[in-house]
Amino acid sequence: MKIRCARCGTLLFVYLKVGEGRLWHCWRKRIIEDYTVKVGDDVKCPKCGAIVGLEKEAFINIKQRSIVVEK
Ligand SMILES: [Zn+2]
Repeated sequence: MKIRCARCGTLLFVYLKVGEGRLWHCWRKRIIEDYTVKVGDDVKCPKCGAIVGLEKEAFINIKQRSIVVEK
């Protein structure tokens, strides 16, 4: 599935999601493509600079309102 920026629609991740329900975090091993920009722990949209998540050790903590999921 594709995860896009809610503000500008730019593709952020191509992600392999397992199971149903909301996407709370992106596990690093399931990220197929990553277009985001990392500034410290912030994960940002490469186009508009919106913060879309927070980088953790094994996953990226997703800000729910900052992304749109496309199946
Ligand atoms: Zn954006």
